[in-house]
Amino acid sequence: MKYIQKDIKNEPAELRDYRNKTPNASYKGYNDTIKDNDEDRHPLREALLKEQGYLCAYCMGRISVTERINGKPKVEVEHFKPQAKYPDLDLKYENLLGVCNGLSFTYPENKAVHHCDKTTGVNGKIQGNVELRKLDPRDKNCERLIKYNPGGEILSLNGDVDIEFDLNEVLNLNNTVLKKARKAVIDAAKELLLKRKPHQQWNKVYLKAELENWLSLNRNGQFKKYCMAAAWFIESLLAKPHYNK
Ligand SMILES: [Zn+2]
Repeated sequence: MKYIQKDIKNEPAELRDYRNKTPNASYKGYNDTIKDNDEDRHPLREALLKEQGYLCAYCMGRISVTERINGKPKVEVEHFKPQAKYPDLDLKYENLLGVCNGLSFTYPENKAVHHCDKTTGVNGKIQGNVELRKLDPRDKNCERLIKYNPGGEILSLNGDVDIEFDLNEVLNLNNTVLKKARKAVIDAAKELLLKRKPHQQWNKVYLKAELENWLSLNRNGQFKKYCMAAAWFIESLLAKPHYNK
């Protein structure tokens, strides 16, 4: 999970105008697809993508309006506080997040797994009224409540049961597909470090520069997918006295 700095200034005029000018406006009635000559524009989804550096608000997987899955853009709009429980927030930009399609397939079994806002079961978000107990990507502190491990698992930093519940039950972020994806990023971060310097030469300046690299936007305004797992790995090296000098 990565902190998302929500800013009302990023709200597209199309959403604001719809909310302000339509009697009985509701999210269901808002159309985010606008024909612009030959191209379709999706002002809300585009605003959310930009605000989030093109990462899913929950799993940090890549989201995009140009990449498509079954003809649908690879980004969906999530109501952080569920619409069924908070009708007043239905059209509030602060409550809207860009998320992935919430469906991955294991390899080689090709078994479907649901995650992010598509989780199933009694605590699943697909129910429409389940909300996270403690985690909130709009809260700067969210990054400090969680940690990762070398196997790619995402965990509560202090074993907080509510946070574990959010990660595993509500969002299903420790499914095998996402765990593998995060492990691959952690392994890549290690490879990159080793490519330039043998580990005997790693020091604070070197590791901090690499950390900064993982936390920066590229020139297309995108964060690297699952970047916080790599950041955790480098921070865990920095916590060791022999590298932090
Ligand atoms: Zn996701």
